[in-house]
Amino acid sequence: MSFISSWLRDDIKDISAYQVPDAQGMTKLDAMESPFPLPDNLISQYLAYLTNVELNRYPAPKALELQKTLRDLMGIPDHFGILLGNGSDELIQLLALACNTGDTVLSVEPSFVMYDIISKFTRINYKGVELDEKYEIDIETTLASINKYNPKIIFIAYPNNPTGNAFSREHIVNIIDTAKDSLVVLDEAYYAYAEDSFLQDINNFPNLVLLRTVSKIGFAGLRLGLLIGNKDTVEQLDKIRLPYNINTLTQVSANFLLQEKDEINKNATTIISERAYLSDNMNAIGELFVYPSQANFILFKAPKAEGLFEHLKDNGVLIKNLSKSNRLTNCLRVTVGTREQNKQFIDVVKNYYGRQ
Ligand SMILES: *Cc1c(COP(=O)(O)O)cnc(C)c1O
Repeated sequence: MSFISSWLRDDIKDISAYQVPDAQGMTKLDAMESPFPLPDNLISQYLAYLTNVELNRYPAPKALELQKTLRDLMGIPDHFGILLGNGSDELIQLLALACNTGDTVLSVEPSFVMYDIISKFTRINYKGVELDEKYEIDIETTLASINKYNPKIIFIAYPNNPTGNAFSREHIVNIIDTAKDSLVVLDEAYYAYAEDSFLQDINNFPNLVLLRTVSKIGFAGLRLGLLIGNKDTVEQLDKIRLPYNINTLTQVSANFLLQEKDEINKNATTIISERAYLSDNMNAIGELFVYPSQANFILFKAPKAEGLFEHLKDNGVLIKNLSKSNRLTNCLRVTVGTREQNKQFIDVVKNYYGRQ
């Protein structure tokens, strides 16, 4: 037996590592990244901005300048607190670390897998409540589970990943209002592509916080997420954050790049209209069942999904295969790309089903 296998916690040995496939040379439509690179006219200014960076020094500990930039970009009022994370994944972990060992985290399923994975690492219980057949919150069952498990945290992705829909506002308010002892975390990773947000609702509910990230709006490489909540909540949670968790290059880059509000908003608008283009063209392929989306990706059901996934890969298009996941039989997920990428995807799918 190897050293590590006798040394390691059994429950960690049992976790399968988060898989990231090799995408070199592929049209990458698997990870909800933005397809838009930095505009050429920004690059030289950006590089000039980086010249003054002092990499011999630790980063600004609270990243206050960056907080201000994010407030401006996302319209976050001054009376809310902001906690920055090295990606919102880090903030999910930070929230889990705030729990006691016997506590339970509750989410819905299918949803973002990290809620479950991080609960396992941090030795807290995880309970997933199944969504209904339309992937909407089953409010009766959810409220009954909240009552039964008395969760410390309730994670709800809004819009949901991997299904793409935004749940009923009424159901969510009902949950926040009922679970008064639970911290309700609405994960708005896809806020830029959604019709509604719970940002202003933080004013009304002391047990509500939001997660957002710049990963899905063009800056996945920066690794920058944020938690937004009441100031007293953020002040306490900030104690768990490791000092200097947002590195200098991320702070400086985000400070410069996130000023480009018009460019960021224009790209989001383009993605929303490309989502309609993609969805219309997928619907026209009779074999597919296309789910509605308020995010920058589309979930769809396809006959022989595994074969379609492989056929796409063989033709240079990488999407996400969910067909083996619970409740997602024959389901695949495609990220909205540029018009050219979306066309390429549609053509390969048509080709697989022998259509023109
Ligand atoms: C992508 C995603 C995240 C992770 O965001 P990072 O900031 O890149 O860590 C969090 N939540 C949901 C629902 C996501 O889809």
